Amino acid sequence: MKENQKLHAWFLAHKRDFPWRQEKTPYRVWISEIMLQQTRASVVVPYFQRWMALFPTVKALAAASQDLVLKAWEGLGYYSRARNLHAAAQQIVSDYEGEIPDSAEKLASIRGIGPYTVGAILSFGFQKRAAAVDGNVARVMTRYFLVEEDISKAKVKRKIAELAENFLDHKEPWVTAEALIELGASLCSPKPRCEDCPLQSGCQGLKAGKMESLPIKPVPPMVTELIRSVFIIEAEGAVLVRKGESGKVMADLYEFPYFEQDEGAAHKILKDRWGIEGNLKKLGAVKHSFTRFSATLFPYKISIESRRLVPGYIWVEVERLTQIPFSSGHRKILHNWLK
Ligand code: SF4
Repeated sequence: MKENQKLHAWFLAHKRDFPWRQEKTPYRVWISEIMLQQTRASVVVPYFQRWMALFPTVKALAAASQDLVLKAWEGLGYYSRARNLHAAAQQIVSDYEGEIPDSAEKLASIRGIGPYTVGAILSFGFQKRAAAVDGNVARVMTRYFLVEEDISKAKVKRKIAELAENFLDHKEPWVTAEALIELGASLCSPKPRCEDCPLQSGCQGLKAGKMESLPIKPVPPMVTELIRSVFIIEAEGAVLVRKGESGKVMADLYEFPYFEQDEGAAHKILKDRWGIEGNLKKLGAVKHSFTRFSATLFPYKISIESRRLVPGYIWVEVERLTQIPFSSGHRKILHNWLK
């Protein structure tokens, strides 16, 4: 039996059951693949189901408000993915009458659709011959073919894509493409379980004993630690919040006022900046990470008598707070406070 056929048989016997695998349409494949970037499949399942109930078609997604789209994404992180999905749906409606195109060139011209997603939509959504090379597949391919080069380099990426495409089965290439992803997500993980792997007899990385040192990756950027004071300022049943500016890390997500902690003591900052004084109630600290930052947030709650104008901020009624999209750290603070 050829290696890709062994993989095929293993996949059919072991594949995990996910909602996006049950009814494969280009739209469902697209949404699930974008959600699965940077996020574990088990976490994605409820998000995917809720998304499909809210936005069952490209047209429904295109017509939705951005706040609703971001709210449906809240908690998945990397919000540019949700903003891109929304803009891309509008692009598909205006350029392709709401139908996702089935050519690599047209797909690649749609916002937020990179080479991996092009491959996934063509392969799983349209059942065409195309490899979808994500981090999992790159790991399998570099190990199986003993590729000892930095996988962030463009020429190495092209080489891996070529190896993956040549590895596909001739009759049902979309099954091999998905099986490679599954193998990378399960047996061929960073700590591989080669003894159970259907590709072990042909795997050059295993033969050379180099499985665990592959793939070769660039050194990751340093993580920057942030320590912030966050204020829930309540007046007349409303709370002060700010919407993140477009183009910035937290674009279009709401946050409470916050300051870097080295700017001074919490009560002093409020008094000096905004003339706000009163009893600060300390709430539980919250940790969250985004891009290359790791933030520890120290929240405080304060009530003041009346709403005042604070440039850049708006007052939102307390009961509306759970309906607007917050950045993940500030959402945790909100939930802790409302509890
Ligand atoms: S034999 Fe090991 S290293 Fe090679 S593909 Fe299988 S799990 Fe990965």
